[in-house]
This record gives sequence, C-alpha cells and structure tokens, in this order.
Amino acid sequence: MESPIKFITKGDLTYLVFTNWENDAHLEHCFTTKFGGVSEGHLATLNLGFNRGDKEANVIQNYKNVCEGLGVSLDSIVLSKQVHETNIAKVTEKDKGNGIITPNQWKSIDGIYTNEKDITLVTHYADCVPLFFYAPKYGMIGMAHAGWRGTVAKIGHKMVKIWHEEENIPLEEIQVGIGPSIGACCFEVGSEVAEVFLETFGQTSYIRKDERGEKYHIDLWACNKAVLIESGILEENISISGICTCCHSQIFFSHRKTQGNRGTLGAFMTLKD
Ligand SMILES: [Zn+2]
Repeated sequence: MESPIKFITKGDLTYLVFTNWENDAHLEHCFTTKFGGVSEGHLATLNLGFNRGDKEANVIQNYKNVCEGLGVSLDSIVLSKQVHETNIAKVTEKDKGNGIITPNQWKSIDGIYTNEKDITLVTHYADCVPLFFYAPKYGMIGMAHAGWRGTVAKIGHKMVKIWHEEENIPLEEIQVGIGPSIGACCFEVGSEVAEVFLETFGQTSYIRKDERGEKYHIDLWACNKAVLIESGILEENISISGICTCCHSQIFFSHRKTQGNRGTLGAFMTLKD
C-alpha cells in the first residue's frame, strides 16, 4: 500500500504532507518536524511554541521559514489556543494574525476551521494527535488538537457535527488526516487514564493491558478513527500517518520522550485560489 504521508525537504526545512492532498492546487498543508528553524538547545531547531522559553524573535523566524516553504504569508496565520478542551472556532478574515501579529484573542480553542482563502490555520503538537479536516468540494479546512483528553471528549466528532449540521457538508465529502503523534507503542498509561478510555470506548483491541496487568497501551489513532467513523466519516476518507513522535524523537519534538524539555511542532492548512 502507498504510504499516506511523505516527507518534503526545501533547503533546511523538512515537513510532511498527506500524499492524497499533496497535489491539490487549492490546499497547502503540512506537519512540521524539528528541522528548518533557528532555535537552539532542546528547542532546536524549528520550535513553534511561544511558551517554551524560546526567544520570541526565533519563534517568529521559525514561522517565517515554514510560511516561505508553503508559500503563505506570516500575517495570514491564525493560531489556536489549546488547553485540552473541545471548543472550536470558525475563523474569518478578521482573525488573521491571531496569536502571532496580535495577542491571542481566545482562552480555550482546540479546534479551528475556515472556508476563506489565504487564512493559514495553525495548531500545535508534541505527542498529541493532530486531526486535519478537508472538504475539497465545499472549500472547507479545519484542524483539531486531540490529546488524550480531547480524544476521550471526541473533539473529532464535534468538528464533524459542526461541518455537517451548521455548514451543511455531506459526511461523505469530509476527508480526515490523522497526523504523527505518540503511538500505542509509547503511550503507556496507568489505570486511572485507562478507565476513562474504557468508559468511552468499551473493551477494544486498541486499549491493551500489558502482560503484568499494571499498565495499559492505548492506540490514540484507532480511538480517533473510531470516533470519526461513528460520526459518519467514511473509512476510505481517513488517512493515518502511522508515525510515532516518541519513537522518532530525533525528527519530532516529543513531550514524553523528553519529560517536557521540548519545542513545539505545528500543523498548517491554507486554502488557495
Ligand atoms: Zn512509539
């Protein structure tokens, strides 16, 4: 089977894209790696978090580098305000620059979407699950940050529900990409967290007790896929990158691998003419 994702390198910058969207003239998108920025130490090099102790000028330069790679402008960016809840905002022209040119206007926005061109949506990650949404025929893009809390609270379902009920997009027209995040290999949790998952998803193969019966390994990609399918998204419209950020911490910032001493990755989406 063809890989659902592909790494693209432009000079020092390396990011990945979903192959089914790669050649879409109306969409620019990417998920960043550690490569292509100016930050140093444990933030090297492409840290996109303003809250990681980095110099602001470095972070801005890192955004500029990604923007240049994608062919979008810095002032078209709209940053989310991720706090592991499930609030979703529809973004318009007036929000451009939010969180990067102007102060972030939000207190709690883990999902953003738009149908306007030349707005660059950006969400942030370091092991949590990036959900990319795209309805090509309806010119709608969106992203949701699904950490374990967002996964259990079904933020993916919330985005689908808004697109379907408020934006009148048929479910079969919605495509979803599940980007790199911590995989079941590395997402080991204790019984308190596992119980929350078991309450939400029931007994399934993707919530697995280890051999000693003390810890659980949870497959967040499968959980989010199950949420999407339950919401009416067609299985063939869901792409899973299948890359564990913790196993590949030489390429991606991983919160768990570094016990929090890490930079921040970004997911970007822009609609183009
Ligand atoms: Zn792993």
